[in-house]
Amino acid sequence: METVPTETVYGLAAVVADPKAVDAIFRIKGRPQDNPLIVHVDGIHQVGQFAEEPCEAAKKLMEVFWPGPLTLILSKKPDVPDTITAGLDSVALRVPAHPIILDVIQKTGPLVAPSANPSGKPSPTRASHVEQDYEGTICVVDGGNTQIGLESTVVDCRDPQEFVILRPGALDTASLSHVSQIPVRHWKSEEAVSAEGFRSPGMKYTHYKPNASVYWIPSERHPDGTLRASLPDNSLLILHSAGQPELFSGRVVHVEGDFSTMATLLYDLFRWADRIGLQYIYIESLPEESLHPILPALNNRISKAIGAYS
Ligand code: AMP
Ligand code: MG
Repeated sequence: METVPTETVYGLAAVVADPKAVDAIFRIKGRPQDNPLIVHVDGIHQVGQFAEEPCEAAKKLMEVFWPGPLTLILSKKPDVPDTITAGLDSVALRVPAHPIILDVIQKTGPLVAPSANPSGKPSPTRASHVEQDYEGTICVVDGGNTQIGLESTVVDCRDPQEFVILRPGALDTASLSHVSQIPVRHWKSEEAVSAEGFRSPGMKYTHYKPNASVYWIPSERHPDGTLRASLPDNSLLILHSAGQPELFSGRVVHVEGDFSTMATLLYDLFRWADRIGLQYIYIESLPEESLHPILPALNNRISKAIGAYS
């Protein structure tokens, strides 16, 4: 077992065909057994090992977006181990777009590769994050900073009339429905009638949480004394459009409207705030989601870091 880079986040990888290694992933991450794993394959030709025949619209998504930050949920073949699917009758599949993990898959066969963080914590986007989390006890292949910085878009493709995004990522509803030629919508947490009713079990757990408390602050192009007075010194302030509060003596990171950069930096900033002992992280509220494809994913991860489930 080792940690490998992907284009989204670093993954803790185990060979699908090695049940002991798969078990070790749950143990090492402290991952609940009912949170299923994504199977990483090296191309469409391996899908049939794990899933029943996908519909035509799902095949279009694979052809256009693989390798890439897209995980498809398909009906599973009966012999896929329950430990991987958490006993569900579906399986999650993706072809990652990073030469290192693709090279490993070609040598070892398909891998499960959940984010290489202790469960609940922010995902690692640099090799040093994994070294810090596991104090050097886990081997990391250093592939530099990950390109996207947030986890893959997870899409349930089992209904050929309508696909449902279970976890937003870099690919948004517009591009997915353009390519698949069918409606694609976001899953809503209200659709879960009970914890068991969650379509994607991972979504019911606390996630992406730094030790610091995270808050939204209202977007303000010209912040006045109210914003300044409300921020304690031991805060990190992440802005994308607002002017920097002049007298704020804490730390300010301004991404100047570049939301892709904000996505690549988010977990690193969470982790940095924890390392230097900051207690609060304030993030300027995000604009209308249609402005940039990564905004639904940023909104989702920050809301979860704050503690809200939606
Ligand atoms: P991670 O590997 O940490 O990126 O998390 C994988 C995500 O994919 C979790 O949110 C899981 O709940 C989700 N997932 C994996 N397999 C399935 C499945 N068969 N059905 C629904 N969601 C899944
Ligand atoms: Mg994860």
